Amino acid sequence: MNGKIFIIEDEPSIIQLVQHNLEKEGFIVSSSLNGNEGLKELKKFEPNLLLLDWMLPDLSGIDICKNIRKDNSFKDLPIIMLTAKGEEEDKIKGLDSGVDDYLTKPFSFNELMARIKAVLRRTNPTSVSDKLKFDDLNLDRIEKRVFRDKKEIKLGPTEFRLLEFFLSNPKRVYSRDQILENVWPNNINVESRTIDVHIRRLRKSVNIKDKKELIRTVRSSGYSLI
Ligand code: CA
Repeated sequence: MNGKIFIIEDEPSIIQLVQHNLEKEGFIVSSSLNGNEGLKELKKFEPNLLLLDWMLPDLSGIDICKNIRKDNSFKDLPIIMLTAKGEEEDKIKGLDSGVDDYLTKPFSFNELMARIKAVLRRTNPTSVSDKLKFDDLNLDRIEKRVFRDKKEIKLGPTEFRLLEFFLSNPKRVYSRDQILENVWPNNINVESRTIDVHIRRLRKSVNIKDKKELIRTVRSSGYSLI
């Protein structure tokens, strides 16, 4: 899985635990401890899903939901609300305000994961699918194997992540900054030259004699999977 998840939650211990476990599952995660800052940050981060606490020091979860739904670019963002016990009535209001699902604290990580997968499967199938396919290219996220037709392609770990990223959004052109942010999430010291080197390696591995080129360079913009 390589979806992006944003968390707005004012309890640092919950953020820490959830973030750590989601990253182990392969998600790219970012978070905020308050509503106003969270709203700004999440719009920059462009997540595939938002985990949103019901009660925050500055804004309520509902205020945040309403704000997000008003914004055209985020009106379809899947939201899972995290509520405390005894907020049953509020839960229903929460669902009315455009929340996709909710979870009562304390929850187990397995429970949370099941909800996240269910919501993503509905809203963004490629972010949870184990197998990605484009043209004659097939990538298996679980087995970590790549095939072009029947020929297996061996990739290094960075090239694998790069290809996985491109396959999640074929035909979309990504700038080096976007590639950096999505493929090297915790490493801001990567130079754009390094990205070019890995793209070159990926291209060399994926391009097989007599088959069409799959990685496209778009001058002064970036790269895309044709
Ligand atoms: Ca709270």
